Amino acid sequence: MLSHSEQKYFRAVRRDFHAHPELKFEEHRTSEKIYSLLKEWGCDEITRGLGGTGVVGTIHGTLGRNSAKSIGIRADMDALPLSEKNKFEHASKYSGKMHACGHDGHLAILLAAGKKLAEEKNFSGTLHLIFQPGEEGGAGGKAMIDDGLFEKHPCSEIYALHNWPGLPEGTFGFKSSGIMASSNQFDITITGKGGHAAMPQLCVDPIFIGSQVCQAIYGITSRMVKPIDPAVVSISQIKAGDSPNIIGNTLFLSGTVRTFSYEALDLIEKKIEDLSRQICAAYDAKADVCFLRQYPPTINDKKITEYAVAVAKKLFGEKKIVIDVEPTMGAEDFSFMLQSVPGTYFFLGNGDISGTHRGKGHGLGPCTLHNATYDFNDNLIQIGAKFWKELVKSRLSHE
Ligand SMILES: [Zn+2]
Ligand SMILES: [Zn+2]
Repeated sequence: MLSHSEQKYFRAVRRDFHAHPELKFEEHRTSEKIYSLLKEWGCDEITRGLGGTGVVGTIHGTLGRNSAKSIGIRADMDALPLSEKNKFEHASKYSGKMHACGHDGHLAILLAAGKKLAEEKNFSGTLHLIFQPGEEGGAGGKAMIDDGLFEKHPCSEIYALHNWPGLPEGTFGFKSSGIMASSNQFDITITGKGGHAAMPQLCVDPIFIGSQVCQAIYGITSRMVKPIDPAVVSISQIKAGDSPNIIGNTLFLSGTVRTFSYEALDLIEKKIEDLSRQICAAYDAKADVCFLRQYPPTINDKKITEYAVAVAKKLFGEKKIVIDVEPTMGAEDFSFMLQSVPGTYFFLGNGDISGTHRGKGHGLGPCTLHNATYDFNDNLIQIGAKFWKELVKSRLSHE
């Protein structure tokens, strides 16, 4: 699909993004570069500023009568607040910023497909190339929707991919229902009464009470949520006390909740609040509970997943496809887009986590997402771009 020189070119584009990572909603250089490339290639319309730094490149097919059908393909642009441990030439130039989730690769894949489709325009209907800011905890997908993404650029179907370490290189992992969980956060502040650690009878000890709240919260998933409905509750922060001989006034704890169903989510939210308040009340302490729903679950459309599977099968053969890939309790803000438009989100294998594709100078860590020695596998640019191009031609074919 891409000539040898185009492959070299897009590898360089990817590595340039990798060397210049930008954190959520600060993707100014990235956004500017995408804009200038889309312009150079003759994209029919380019919309900037959606969700801050978001860019949408629109291409109208020239085959047959104007079709009302339009599809959107999304790539995320942001990097992570992490200092890269790789030493190869394209390693991050900035300390504390790194493309450790492979979004640099998602950009290169979509740009490569976009270039070919903008040149050829051999389809019927409209294609929107959606470049999204702030995926890493910023809900940039939602920010684009709030700025009118789908009113300005109506889509009948939407698609996105994520590179996936541990899945063999170039293997597609599809799922026709929930592929990623909802992500939610809780914060609990327990207020007791501080005093001398040798005289606990005069105090209300928030650590003693907090430890019972923790035990009770861990009972929610094992004793109250339906066992076949996946759910994770992790208490990941506890802060209390300043000195061994002082009982402090407060304890702060926080954690994450991941579920696929709203039934489990509603139950967990309610039980965290009830258990915290009632346990604290029984000991004359007070609990302030804050529960924040961040990303909804990423739920794929069955029919649209089947279209994508058929395209991958035709291009790469059955052996390169996992039809029912294992879902993950991680979360993804493409979920907001899937709440507005039916579509599918799938994994594209980045190869073994030992990272044999990484160049000389990589750090010693595993090649896994959000790891300081991660690197995107450049071989996926050709594979992913070929897939996007064929998908567009097949879904926007001239009837
Ligand atoms: Zn990530
Ligand atoms: Zn990611």
